[in-house]
Amino acid sequence: MAFTIEFDDIKLTERISNPYKGINEVYSLGMSFADFFSIKEELKKSEHIYIRLVDDMLDRITQDSYFYAKMREFLELCIKDTSLYTLDNFLFFLHMQGLSIPEHYLQFYIDTETPVEDLVTTENLSPLEAAIRGFAKSDKSKNAITSVYTCNSIEDVCVASLYHILRQDLVIKKCNNCNKYFVPLLRSDAIYCDRLSPHNPYKTCKEDGSQRTFENKLKMDDAEKLRRKIYQAKQMRVIRNPDIAFYKENFETWKADVARWKTDIKNGQRTSEEFIQWLNESNKRQ
Ligand SMILES: [Zn+2]
Repeated sequence: MAFTIEFDDIKLTERISNPYKGINEVYSLGMSFADFFSIKEELKKSEHIYIRLVDDMLDRITQDSYFYAKMREFLELCIKDTSLYTLDNFLFFLHMQGLSIPEHYLQFYIDTETPVEDLVTTENLSPLEAAIRGFAKSDKSKNAITSVYTCNSIEDVCVASLYHILRQDLVIKKCNNCNKYFVPLLRSDAIYCDRLSPHNPYKTCKEDGSQRTFENKLKMDDAEKLRRKIYQAKQMRVIRNPDIAFYKENFETWKADVARWKTDIKNGQRTSEEFIQWLNESNKRQ
């Protein structure tokens, strides 16, 4: 099942082709790789292009596959500590897994209608200098050099992708809105991807994420005001009734609960809306 993945570093695209299966699809560079490792549980019934490339069920990969788990662990490690995200470390990782970079070559697309020499007007240049200077200023969408990797397995296309991403000094990140992996192509400090937001089908993560962060902050400000109000009331009750042990116990439990809520919100396990609702109830309950 040989197929190819071809990276165009000028257009920042990747083309995956398998003529035998009639597959010829173009994505933004690194997208198929980032998507593949974001799928996890749904991998079994996924229609992801890597899955469609494979004939044999035995060649398929699930989230429990050794390779899938190890590659994710490596990605997570590099995201947690970006100083570990180096080509050297990746090559060592491949060595540990018994994997290697798939065979690859450069593909030249040279515009035959406009010879590059014609783009240079300076006279008395040697043919070589005229050609090099012409190529340098040529339209790179017409004169391209791409990297083509020949793959025989899902492992191959994954290894080729991360190798190429690293070679291009591109990074892998996790989107702050949908939590999927992505490769920021234009700004390496991007924190949101360009997928459709899981919270709003009409907006991309980039559009929806910053809006949600802003709204979330406003809601957290509201929650904080409410928390302080209840805190003071409960504290006052303890001070005024030093002989009632229940008030003191209630206050301590409540404070511990609040701390847990804050951690859960920070980890994305609960929302600020739920926190406000709980605060209101905890106030009524005594
Ligand atoms: Zn996203």
